Amino acid sequence: EMLASGFGIIGFSWICSPACTELEVVVMDWLAKFLHLPQHFLHEVEGPGGGVIQGSASEAVLVAVLAAREQAVRRVQHSHPELTESEIRGKLIAYSSDQSNSCIEKAGVLAAMPIKLLPAGDDFVLRGDTLKQAIERDVAAGLIPVICVATLGTTGTCAYDDIESLASICEEKSVWLHVDAAYAGGAFALEECSELRRGLERVDSLNFNLHKFMLVNFDCAAMWLRDANKVIDSFNVDRIYLKHKHEGQTQIPDFRHWQIPLGRRFRALKVWITFRNLGAEGLRAHIRKHISLAGQFEDLVKADERFELIAPRALGLVCFRAKGDNEIT
Ligand code: PLP
Repeated sequence: EMLASGFGIIGFSWICSPACTELEVVVMDWLAKFLHLPQHFLHEVEGPGGGVIQGSASEAVLVAVLAAREQAVRRVQHSHPELTESEIRGKLIAYSSDQSNSCIEKAGVLAAMPIKLLPAGDDFVLRGDTLKQAIERDVAAGLIPVICVATLGTTGTCAYDDIESLASICEEKSVWLHVDAAYAGGAFALEECSELRRGLERVDSLNFNLHKFMLVNFDCAAMWLRDANKVIDSFNVDRIYLKHKHEGQTQIPDFRHWQIPLGRRFRALKVWITFRNLGAEGLRAHIRKHISLAGQFEDLVKADERFELIAPRALGLVCFRAKGDNEIT
């Protein structure tokens, strides 16, 4: 963090600091491999996918929501030329679960698009059938579904939404599927947690905070896109002073089109140093330690009759309370 700040990089285009952009491409691919993400999220694999470092999960979610909104507007303009743009924008609707983080609802406020918080099951999980019912009801009322933001590792109980069943509905209804894995994403690196990655090959975008589970200082939020062009097309605004002769080369993304600000910090340096210092095995050991400490704490709670668990332990999160009246808690 001290080096990244001290160098004073303001990498708003590749030409401002080639290292800032190129190291980000490198570390985002390292990270995608470390987390066993689908190949199409890698820069080095031919295709429109890739990863970028945002400041926070909130920014990543907002980028996904805004891009999905613009893609939906264009799609409907094409299929329904009789509708005006403002008529289309007035009908847009998005979805998440009532267990999702506050930043998802906030993204809807900032994007001027209502995000319906659908009821999760008793196990705090959002499933495809709930989404399907909501979409069918809204479509019948003339609304246009745009995006579903699912969560892997909810803030309250670290519950995992059912990505496979949500993806089936999103594919059927042409709805963008984003996954917020701000906390739990680190566990994708562990073979014993491979179940958590189920369905990720079907999502359009996802985010994961290195400043939560990965020993990187705030701020550092990784985001991957299956088709980055959908974000670039939605956000591309240019000026003559931003142009340079290497623009448009596939190996040199101009990440300013993938984010909200123009300027960029050299966050990739923090990721690079962390990986070089600890290695993938060191980082996996760190995540396993979190999980095993939570397991020990869970055992202490279970062994003490004054306390009870209120949700199954998930990764490093143990939700418990004092038995009896809420006053005691
Ligand atoms: N999503 C989840 C699941 C979270 O737990 C949090 C923060 O705790 C966030 C998003 C927001 O993260 P950020 O502060 O990086 O915007």
